[in-house]
Amino acid sequence: MPAHLDRALVWFRRDLRADDQAALYHALRSAKQVFCAFVLDRDILDALPRADRRVEFILGALQVLDEDLGKLGGALIVRHGFAADEIPRLVAELGAQAVFTNHDDEPQALMRDALVADLLKPLNAELRTFKDHVIFERGEVMTAAGGPYSVFTPYKNAWLRKVDEFYLSSYPVERHARALARTEFAKGVPTLEDIGFKPAGLTGHVGQGSPGAEALLDDFLDRVDQYDSKRDFPAVKGPSYLSVHLRFGTVSIRRLARIAHQLMQGGDHGAEIWLSELIWRDFYHQVMHHHPHAMTAAFRPEYDAIRWETGAEADALFAAWCEGRTGYPLVDAAMRQLNQTGYMHNRLRMVTASFLTKDLGIAWQRGEAYFAQQLLDFDLAANNGGWQWASSSGCDAQPYFRIFNPVSQSEKFDAQGRFIRRYCPELAELPAKTIHEPWARAPLQMQGSVYPRPIVDHAIARERTLARYAVVRR
Ligand code: FAD
Repeated sequence: MPAHLDRALVWFRRDLRADDQAALYHALRSAKQVFCAFVLDRDILDALPRADRRVEFILGALQVLDEDLGKLGGALIVRHGFAADEIPRLVAELGAQAVFTNHDDEPQALMRDALVADLLKPLNAELRTFKDHVIFERGEVMTAAGGPYSVFTPYKNAWLRKVDEFYLSSYPVERHARALARTEFAKGVPTLEDIGFKPAGLTGHVGQGSPGAEALLDDFLDRVDQYDSKRDFPAVKGPSYLSVHLRFGTVSIRRLARIAHQLMQGGDHGAEIWLSELIWRDFYHQVMHHHPHAMTAAFRPEYDAIRWETGAEADALFAAWCEGRTGYPLVDAAMRQLNQTGYMHNRLRMVTASFLTKDLGIAWQRGEAYFAQQLLDFDLAANNGGWQWASSSGCDAQPYFRIFNPVSQSEKFDAQGRFIRRYCPELAELPAKTIHEPWARAPLQMQGSVYPRPIVDHAIARERTLARYAVVRR
């Protein structure tokens, strides 16, 4: 197909890789000269604390992207400013006729993109957008009646019926790369200091950009067959740890889903369960698309009638939860893992979210906002879905009367206390049988310890929660 545009700009956002990238592929096939840009968007950055691990991760990924584009004959232009200023400005500077970019369905991002599309019109340029971030998006998987799914299992079954080689194939960038162009506007990637940030202590476990994702994937593929049996135990290397790479697109979802699907077809049960998790990701993205109100309020409106604890005492309990000093060792170890590394194991996200909403009676939105600040893999659709699942207000959520017992979760999923000892060193000397509930079972050993007593009695909290949730039954 001959290129019908002279010049196009690819606007990278949550797709920071130079291969199997839908917008890049389509631009290369449509234009004689293709320029690439990323905007360090002040609409997002200005609201962050001056040390943020995600900013560090993004700059690292941009370095790799710039190098990878360089090897293909292109270069990355990086601008620090407001996207709605920078993209039209670049289009004018480069004389581009179209901006190619991938869908970002978060409500704020949709508004930004609509604004940019409007601002491009007087420049005789258009915004062309593509699916890249998920396998199925928006209205691609619908019920027989034509509505969106709100229960996961039938959604998953429909997803699995629909998926085929077409949806899982990658976009081959390299064979069209000759259209990539260099420009004087590509001046390298700024440093943290250049954009007013300080190092936040990004831990090495995630690696940098696409090579970081490749290393994690290599490691995971050796044990994906055991995913189903190991994924629930935070002390064990069970999951893939790829979430931050999926979030920023330093790995392609098509590649991961293709591998998982092929292994599943070969009878690998671990890969089958892992594919289900990737489908949960698509599920929550389509929830965000069809029900944007759920990004700020309960998916089920009747849950907005719940009266959560507020005031000074609730604020003190919330602070104890954030800082990992609730007196429940598994909850505290989990919160400390989050604070120290930016990651939290999935089982523990469920345990800590349940603890905040159903043991402390604090609104899920407060926990959601704290996770949004701390998580390296923070993703609006998945985080909101997870919080609304735990607080029972979401679609296909945990029933409100299912209240995790933080001690039995600890005994079941960290039986030897290995994870607790890693993040709560003050409990390291306790034997496995006492570590889950130190004050109840080991008062003598704990004398003089700085580890707090439980800030709430689970049995009493449970009764209070059942009463609190009574409003949703009316
Ligand atoms: P793996 O177990 O290897 O799973 C592979 C991938 O599948 C993940 O990387 C992720 O992209 C996807 N995935 C797995 N579980 C889920 C799920 N329940 N919902 C949606 N996608 C899923 N995930 C995020 O990516 N960002 C978030 O902000 C986020 N917040 C959460 C908040 C709460 C309260 C809960 C209960 C879950 C949240 N999750 C979130 C989902 C899940 O905990 C993480 O995706 C997972 O722990 C990431 O680790 P991993 O990459 O090792 O996962």
